[in-house]
Amino acid sequence: MHPIDALTEIATLLERERASRYRSKAFRAAARAIEGLSEAELADAAALRRRPGVGDTSFAVIQEALAGEVPQYLAELRARFAPASSQLRALLRGDLHCHSEWSDGQTPIEAMLGAARALGHEYLALTDHSPRLRVARGLSAVRLREQLAVVAALNADAGGAGPTLLTGIEVDILDDGALDQEPALLDELDVVVASAHSKLRMERGPMTRRLVAAVSDRRVDVLGHVTGRLIRGERGTRPPSAFDAAAVFAACAAHGVAVEINARPEREDPPDELIAVALAEGCLFSIDSDAHAPGQLGLLDEGAARAERAGVPAERIVTTWPLERLREWTRRASG
Ligand SMILES: [Zn+2]
Ligand SMILES: [Zn+2]
Repeated sequence: MHPIDALTEIATLLERERASRYRSKAFRAAARAIEGLSEAELADAAALRRRPGVGDTSFAVIQEALAGEVPQYLAELRARFAPASSQLRALLRGDLHCHSEWSDGQTPIEAMLGAARALGHEYLALTDHSPRLRVARGLSAVRLREQLAVVAALNADAGGAGPTLLTGIEVDILDDGALDQEPALLDELDVVVASAHSKLRMERGPMTRRLVAAVSDRRVDVLGHVTGRLIRGERGTRPPSAFDAAAVFAACAAHGVAVEINARPEREDPPDELIAVALAEGCLFSIDSDAHAPGQLGLLDEGAARAERAGVPAERIVTTWPLERLREWTRRASG
């Protein structure tokens, strides 16, 4: 195998395990450091060892790959890799929620697109954060407009091959339910995921009104990680927000907004009992990875397994729909 493929697969599997971001970053950096080197240059071990970006472990991986072996480090990761399985996963065509280094993702957009291609996605919506989320380097209107041009260029370069990159945003739901970006700019985007990231402990009444107001905005397509809960992981735990789930999901159904089934293992949001409420209210769903690194796009396996266990019919999951149908839905004018 080519050393770049070995390094990239290692980074992907580490991200999939949600290992420390520094570990996967080191392998991605090493892959970049040897990009474009000829076979002769790669074979010069002494020069390779001195190359910035190539650490001890990466160097060993490169040597083993050049020797025609599956690198030991990669073999161990492959042996540990145990994705959740479901019938539903095979029906998913894409993902409507992910981040690049433009906000708090770990890599350039191209790496996310490459990983989506490797998974066989038909489409991927790039949904970096909105301005108020400063900790996540949320995009100002100016930067988001710049990003739209970059996305257009990437799609033009691909010439119809590989996944279509959809423009998008994960827009913050402000305290009163308003959206944290210029309405006219939201109108231009393919996919608008709206999520609350602050004041998650608001009282039940105001929180219900806040979420209902957000999903009643015709620009919103997906309600992201609705409860905001964290159940495990590096960031600790956080209880779910309190709100009238039937009222919020009834508003989603009335406005054609999909309820996100967030695939991140530390979120598992909404909880199963709220998925049942959303099903009863007649909601659409979107199974999203909320990936912040390329390997995390694979978390759709976990999301699909949860949705299947919860009995969500494939037809009500917008990400099982072909791109044209998905586009018709995101362009819908809801009343
Ligand atoms: Zn979010
Ligand atoms: Zn997100």
